[in-house]
Amino acid sequence: MSDCIFCKINSKEIPAKIVYEDERVLAFYDISPAAPVHILIIPKEHIASIDDVGEAHRDLLGHIHLIIKRIAEDLNINRDGYRIVNNCGDAGGQTVHHLHFHLLGGRQMKWPPG
Ligand code: IMP
Repeated sequence: MSDCIFCKINSKEIPAKIVYEDERVLAFYDISPAAPVHILIIPKEHIASIDDVGEAHRDLLGHIHLIIKRIAEDLNINRDGYRIVNNCGDAGGQTVHHLHFHLLGGRQMKWPPG
């Protein structure tokens, strides 16, 4: 989508510190980190939110989660633990309307989130 920030990061129109990339997925550092390690993992395909996924995305979603696990290992946050977050829609706190998962680590997480 032409006006989507994450599509522009995917096409390299907007720079980002990329930690992982393959034909379906891109992962990069969040510009405004909420933890010592804060990575965003996106599908390259523009999907607005988790509410827009269907059966056709089953393998993609599994792939994304295996990549998240691999990144957590690569960045050494797997030993102490980490959090995966998906915000969906306005009330869910989603501000960028391109499906993404937050990988947060490097500090003790609290519950419930705000
Ligand atoms: P959301 O609130 O779950 O939609 O998360 C959007 C995230 O994207 C926020 O944590 C922002 O800090 C992050 N973000 C917005 N613009 C950029 C950017 O240009 N590069 C990297 N992260 C971004």
